[in-house]
Amino acid sequence: TQERQEFAFQAEIKQLLHLLSHSLYQSRDIALRELISNASDALDKMRFVALTDESQREAGPLEIVIEPRAAENQLVIRDSGVGMTRDELVTNLGTIAHSGSGEFLKNLSSESKDKADLSLIGQFGVGFYSAFMIADKVEVRTRSYREEKGWEWESEGTGRFTVEPVEGPLPRGAEIVLHLKDDAKDFATPERIKEIVKRYSSFVPHPIKLGPGDEVINDQKPIWVEPKRQVTDEQYQRFYQHLSHHGDEKPLWHLHVSVDSPIQFHAVLFCPPTNLERFGFPRLEHGVSLCAKRVLVQNDCRELLPDYLRFLFGLVDSEDLPLNVSRETLQDNSVIRRIRASLLKSVFDRLDQLAKDQPEVFQTFVDQFGVLIKEGAIVDPINRERLSKLIRFASSHNTDATLNVSLDDYLARAPEGQKRIYFLGGPDLAAIKKNPNLEIFRKRNLEVLYLIEPIDEFVMNALGTHAGKLLTSIDSDDLELPEAAADAESDKPKEADEKKAEAGFARVLELFRQAIGDRVREVRESHRLTDSPCCLVNSDGGFTMQMQRILKMANK
Ligand code: ADP
Ligand code: MG
Repeated sequence: TQERQEFAFQAEIKQLLHLLSHSLYQSRDIALRELISNASDALDKMRFVALTDESQREAGPLEIVIEPRAAENQLVIRDSGVGMTRDELVTNLGTIAHSGSGEFLKNLSSESKDKADLSLIGQFGVGFYSAFMIADKVEVRTRSYREEKGWEWESEGTGRFTVEPVEGPLPRGAEIVLHLKDDAKDFATPERIKEIVKRYSSFVPHPIKLGPGDEVINDQKPIWVEPKRQVTDEQYQRFYQHLSHHGDEKPLWHLHVSVDSPIQFHAVLFCPPTNLERFGFPRLEHGVSLCAKRVLVQNDCRELLPDYLRFLFGLVDSEDLPLNVSRETLQDNSVIRRIRASLLKSVFDRLDQLAKDQPEVFQTFVDQFGVLIKEGAIVDPINRERLSKLIRFASSHNTDATLNVSLDDYLARAPEGQKRIYFLGGPDLAAIKKNPNLEIFRKRNLEVLYLIEPIDEFVMNALGTHAGKLLTSIDSDDLELPEAAADAESDKPKEADEKKAEAGFARVLELFRQAIGDRVREVRESHRLTDSPCCLVNSDGGFTMQMQRILKMANK
């Protein structure tokens, strides 16, 4: 393994490279952003190693140097991070495709290859390959902090790459040399580099120097320790882009908290404007960055927020955490647990506030992430009550399928004395509206929540009641309606009428029973219909129609 060796890229990576190098992609700035982000990650790891490993204490300066070589048409990105061993080079840069890359590819080739799609590349663990958007040849020279020997990786972004040992000494870290494409020469100018760094990398927590003069071109100011008032929208936006790798996107909302007791911590959280899970992307796996005394301890910490808030990006920094918290002990760490509880409360407060003060933004949030809040209401009994105030449904109160009615809105409009909250599920709004069970509700002008999202039924089951009112599917057979004002409107006919009707109806019921047989439990006379001759209802304690449909689908 000491000789030069040639490897084939893993199939998906090969495909991705083809797409990247052939796309007439306008905003190729992300290539530099991704390489800087990798350098920054390597420096984070080195800083951590230096703080926790005695033998690595003399780590030297941790920095990134970007050096344009205009004469040679080259751009060099160098860092003094952890570097890579030979095996790491082979697996990280070529033979192992990360889980998301297939999905990313699928999305790229089906969509119109516009910039919003491509700019997500960093999220899918394949950011390095964006180098081939601006280069037709890439060399990586690297030495791991664990080794004396350095290695060189080289590829032209077609099917193959080579790895060979480097003769002589090599500084620790990595050096990426981009041989720029003819139409990407401008990347080797200081102005262009400064502009990109300013836009995308101003929050890299290590100095970024412009070589060869070594002018520092980023400001590395941790905005999360600043007082909120002093942070501008633009700074928040850039920090969001730094954390999310989401190109030029603006976050939908953000939250900035500084807490002193019982645990000290600063946190900034961001909500993206779209929920990728809705578009067929795999389950979101990123977490929140965890820092102890400003040092990044873990990039994707999932212990800081419940799983249903997995769409939030952000950073938490605490003075009360030791640097050597390991992934394994995070879960049992009492500091983490307390930060989590406090952070969660802040998220709920922020959402309540949003619903009140910026209803349009909140509606966008509901349309994108409402389903995850509903997931929370199902899986998190401790916070169910708070979550139940944030969930929204479609309703007979609306003309369209907008999910904008809260359980509290419903109750505020309900006539006095109504003891239940009524709902009806169905595959979509049109189907629900045709359900004859609604007739009596229309006639009596009683609101019914329309459960148009598959998860809605599960939410209703989990909640059971709201503000002491039973949540009731209107296709259940023991449907109880509020007392009506006028007798004529009553659901419960007077005794004399009842007897007369029963006698006349006995034959009808008999015919129905013969025709349908044992496919139903019972055929009964009903007073809930006004226009339709009959309707289906659920026997006591049974699943609602829609739930039965969902379960049938799940069992297929
Ligand atoms: P990601 O950064 O999401 O893991 P990338 O495609 O950007 O995906 O990088 C793949 C891997 O290559 C990184 O996880 C890291 O292990 C390694 N790598 C890339 N650049 C460097 C670097 N400058 N120093 C050390 N390792 C690096
Ligand atoms: Mg990366």
